[in-house]
Amino acid sequence: MTFQELGLDKPILRALAELGYEKPSPIQEKAIPPALAGRDVLGCAQTGTGKTCAFAAPILQELSRRSAPGRPIRSLILTPTRELALQIQESFEDYGKYLSLRSAVIFGGVGQQPQVDKLKKGVDILVATPGRLLDLQGQGFVDLSRLEIFVLDEADRMLDMGFIHDVRRVLRLLPAKKQTLFFSATMPPEVMDLVNGLLHDPAKVAVDPISSPVEVIDQSVYFVDKGNKTKLLSRLLLEGDVKNALVFTRTKHGANKVAGDLQKAGITAAAIHGNKSQTARQQALADFKAGRVKCLVATDIAARGLDIEELSHVFNYNLPEVPETYVHRIGRTGRAGRGGTAVSFCDFGEQEYLRGIEKLIGRKVPVVEDHPWPMQVFEAPRDAKGRPVNADDAEARQAARERRRERAAAEKRAAPAAPAEEPPAPGETPAKKRRRRKKSAAGEGAEQAAAVQAVPEPPAPERPEELRKKPRRGVRQHHLEDTLPAQPAQASSDFYRPDPLAGDVIMDATARLLASRRRLLPEREGRRKQEKPPARGQEKREKKPAAQGGEQKQKKGTPSAAPRKEEKPQPGGKKRNRGRGHGRRGGPPEVVLRTGNQKDSTEQPSLMKPYYMTPDD
Ligand code: AMP
Repeated sequence: MTFQELGLDKPILRALAELGYEKPSPIQEKAIPPALAGRDVLGCAQTGTGKTCAFAAPILQELSRRSAPGRPIRSLILTPTRELALQIQESFEDYGKYLSLRSAVIFGGVGQQPQVDKLKKGVDILVATPGRLLDLQGQGFVDLSRLEIFVLDEADRMLDMGFIHDVRRVLRLLPAKKQTLFFSATMPPEVMDLVNGLLHDPAKVAVDPISSPVEVIDQSVYFVDKGNKTKLLSRLLLEGDVKNALVFTRTKHGANKVAGDLQKAGITAAAIHGNKSQTARQQALADFKAGRVKCLVATDIAARGLDIEELSHVFNYNLPEVPETYVHRIGRTGRAGRGGTAVSFCDFGEQEYLRGIEKLIGRKVPVVEDHPWPMQVFEAPRDAKGRPVNADDAEARQAARERRRERAAAEKRAAPAAPAEEPPAPGETPAKKRRRRKKSAAGEGAEQAAAVQAVPEPPAPERPEELRKKPRRGVRQHHLEDTLPAQPAQASSDFYRPDPLAGDVIMDATARLLASRRRLLPEREGRRKQEKPPARGQEKREKKPAAQGGEQKQKKGTPSAAPRKEEKPQPGGKKRNRGRGHGRRGGPPEVVLRTGNQKDSTEQPSLMKPYYMTPDD
């Protein structure tokens, strides 16, 4: 069976061929024809089976054949995690590169403004996590009334993560007449309830998890200490049958370090990550593709969208925390059934990640025991308070601190030297000396004040009032402080960061958000208890945990003080908080806290249960 035989149009076939997809995977073979025929589809398949293409290709084809004036959202893909959302949208971009359709992705945990801007321009295909979708819909930025095709992805995970109510709320926003493509790795009774309420005479397609495209990839894992990973990597690159290799590291600092160490070992290597300029990244990629560089060392985010044909090896220098990331990393080799090799290094602290990966792919990754640097460290490093720390993160933070210190020292050197102190008058007592110093300081102050009056004040940076008053604080900010790329002195004083993922530490965005949130909770709670309640009538904008409420949602174009219909105005104009926090427009990412079984989409690992549907179900 070929993609052409499935009935796909030329622009999509061309894009798939360029990606190295030679023949459809089983889920694609079974799901694409009924989807193209306009039928509802119930697909039982997990990540790694090629299910994204199974729903993306028919959606792209159908939407490109029918035009819609005003570019409304015609397809919605609802998926549980930010990681998956990004990967799905990337796939839409890849498969639809020869079509003129527009796609966008929205998820929580980051500022909403860039997402809103994109929505305002008009999108045909929207990939979303439930929480942010409801937020933006509530604010009037998302109109789903003209939806034609709806995809519910990883339904069982939605359930596991406590999103079922959000999903039901989203379903109520969709028009009754639509095509639905429903995917779930397992079919527990609650998922079947959703299926029965949502799908009409669906084509049922199920694939054995074993038949995933990643099956053709030769996978192995080496248990090795962090300190020996580079030696092992050099040895494998030099002695093995490695034609070219993409090496994944956890941090940008790690990528730089590994690339440098490989070069010292005589291996041509380059690092690509968010701190490198676009030109440097393009150059590194061009060198790699041309074979001038054998090894490209990348972080997950930098590697996103890299299109490298005939990649012989993928190395996981660090194992990813999110199991799906592993599948996507290794899926970069072995394209078109060519059979690539994926080698992972696992140190003591990463064993938990390996277990998660094996659970997701449904089998053990073969262990290579016969190598010169077997694991010898059997405890995770701990901080001064005895808490386990991730050594790679700690190293990147330390490097970031050193860079900051160096910058500060350089700035100090560049600053004009302070005027020398007046010599003490003969016979001057210490008290007299203190008075003289005070007087001269007052004089300087007066001079400075005069200068300030003479020179017009520069315009204040555009920041909300409460941010100007309050010092920056919080764990997230602490992390970003430590890890953000070098900024010009002026820009670094600004609260806003253009890219919350542009830190050195934890390149896995999901893990970054998770880490910040967990540690933030007790700290904020403690601080809140000490805070006095605001005086009646005082217009004080206050952040509250999203469990009690987030910022007031606004209807598009309405003033922020206008209460929503169902809300009673609070005394003194204070806003009532509702379930979810979201990023301030153009502001920093806002931390979302939840209670009970309501969890953030980025927090939960897959908890797949063994309810596999058989093709006869
Ligand atoms: P998915 O299950 O959609 O997340 O896909 C898993 C991996 O398989 C991704 O890296 C895809 O690029 C790759 N893939 C999907 N379909 C095919 C295909 N027909 N041939 C080769 N690779 C594929």
